[in-house]
Order: sequence, then C-alpha cells, then structure tokens
Amino acid sequence: MGLVPDVIDLRSDTVTRPTAEMRAAMAGAEVGDDVYGEDPTVNALQERVAAMFGHEAALFTPTGSLANLLAVRSVVAPGQEVLCESSAHVARAELGAHGAVAGITMRTWTSPRGQVDLAAISGLFAPDMGPFFVRTTAVSVENTHNFAGGAVLPLADLQALRSWADASEVAIHLDGARLWNAHVATGTPLSEYGAVADVLGVCFSKGLGAPVGSMMVGSAAAVTEARVWRKRLGGGMRQVGVLAAAAAYALDHHVDRLADDHDHARLLADACGADPGLVDTNIVVVDRPDAARYVAAARDEGVLISAVGPRAVRLVTHLDVSAGDAKRAAEVLARL
Ligand SMILES: *Cc1c(COP(=O)(O)O)cnc(C)c1O
Repeated sequence: MGLVPDVIDLRSDTVTRPTAEMRAAMAGAEVGDDVYGEDPTVNALQERVAAMFGHEAALFTPTGSLANLLAVRSVVAPGQEVLCESSAHVARAELGAHGAVAGITMRTWTSPRGQVDLAAISGLFAPDMGPFFVRTTAVSVENTHNFAGGAVLPLADLQALRSWADASEVAIHLDGARLWNAHVATGTPLSEYGAVADVLGVCFSKGLGAPVGSMMVGSAAAVTEARVWRKRLGGGMRQVGVLAAAAAYALDHHVDRLADDHDHARLLADACGADPGLVDTNIVVVDRPDAARYVAAARDEGVLISAVGPRAVRLVTHLDVSAGDAKRAAEVLARL
C-alpha cells in the first residue's frame, strides 16, 4: 500500500468483481451446450428463477437489456406501443433497441421518483382503434427505478396497475434489474412482484455481484419464442453454465446482504447533505451546481462517482464497497 488509498468505486453496482467463492462455484459448474438446451446449470437456474417469481419459464441472457427486449417484444408486436416512465431504462438506456430491432414505439409519463401514475397511464392508453392510432399493448415499469435514484415502486401501486391492465387487456413488463433490492428493502416476497407482471427481466450482474447474466421470466410460450429471438439476435450461448453458476451462487449468498448496501447508501446521502429518507435502496442522486467538477474533485480523493446530469451526481453502493469504504467515502464527500 502506497500513500494513495485504494480507490472506492461508487459509479455503478456493475463494477463488482466475482469473489473467490463465486469463482470456485463457476470453476466447478457442470456444463453443456445451452443452444441445445443441454446445460444443466443453466436449466436449473432458469427453473429456479421462474419458480421464485411464480412463472412458468425463464431464459438466461447475456444482458438485462436483452432480457428486457425479449420480454417486451413477447407482449408487444411491431407497430404497437408500450407505455413507460420517461426516464425508464427501456426508454433511455437501451439505445432504442425496442424501436430499432422490434418495431415497437413508446409513449411516456413522467414521475420525479419513477412511480406508477395510473391517471397518466390511463390517459395515455390507446385501445385498438383500427387504422387510426397506435395500439397500446403493454405498460413497462421499473423496480427499483435506476434514474429515479433506486426508488422502490410500492406493491399496492403495482397491484392497482395490474387490475387496470387486466380490465384494459394490456400486459405488464417489469424491468426488475434491481428487483432484489426492492425485495430486501421492503420484505415483499418475489412471488408478489412476479404476480403483477406478465413478463420480467432481472439482472445478476448488478448488486448481486455476478460478472455476467440476466434473465427473462414469463410464460412457457413467451420463453419458447424468446429462445428463437435470443439466437436470432446473436445471444445464443454455449457452455454458459459457468456464468449461471455465478448467478446461482449470488442468489444463495448475495441477496440478504443487499441490506448493507442500503445502509451504506443512507450514510453517503447523509454525508452529502441529501435526505436519507429519499434513499430507498443502493442508489443516491445528489444535486450539485457543477456535477462534473464535483466528480473530478472526488476522483482526486480516490472516490469514483458519476455525473448523470449537469447538476446531478450519482453514487451506487455494492458488494465491493465495505462498511469501512463507505465510511471513508462519506468523510471525503462531506469534506468536498
Ligand atoms: C442495468 C439495467 C438494465 C440492464 O442493463 P445491461 O447493462 O444491459 O445488463 C436494465 N434495467 C435497468 C433499470 C438497469 O439499471
């Protein structure tokens, strides 16, 4: 150790590196050719995750973006639309895949905390009007909501949306990249989240600490079709049980500990003068007059954070940020 302390990386929960125990689980994984459906570790993980959410089937994907795309296109046909919140990951951070690849358009409502706004959603909703308007066939919600600072969507709001969607014959897609965080923060069983959605995407590569891997979850028919589309889009993988083993290890060992990340996030929010009461999970968004300058100053002190807008700075806690790291980062950020 030199004079420069180790860097604390709060840019994203995707920066985690597999632990020694996770690497051992990966090394020992039984594998087969997953395009043939013959990787036992992948098959077990798919069955396990489908069951966790009370759905029939699931499909392992290299990324959460692909899980979302496969999920959304399973319920929205080309020329139809999905409604989502305006800062949703599907709308902002998937590089237009839903339009570019699947011919799907989006209309959005805006909620500062990324919440379900049923009045806005029903106002946007367009039923089948023949040759006049784009038909709404799905609503997409994100829990926790990334760009809203890891905000949790209350289960009651999701259930109200479910009732409305049933009455309106609209499907619900749940972008659950960080649904594990919502589950740990609220104690809501994963099956309750599964019950409000027709299709979901979940990630193992965020706070759970796996190096790669996400999953689309839905009906057997949707997953059978998604398997074709995954291959069509170049996402068919072979002896990928080594990665599924990392995800399975993460489900066994890294879910409950997300509570530590949430504690660390509140500590950091407090140090930055943000309201810890607004920190639901592991993401803190702080208002700074010059975000880029603040980020540079933190970097000089060995704390990596990101500017997500001219005035907005984002900090994310995760598996590779210890209690000591969180405390040291809090001291640095409080000083700046
Ligand atoms: C990270 C993330 C995804 C998936 O991202 P990939 O980088 O494609 O794995 C999807 N939705 C949300 C909300 C995310 O934060």
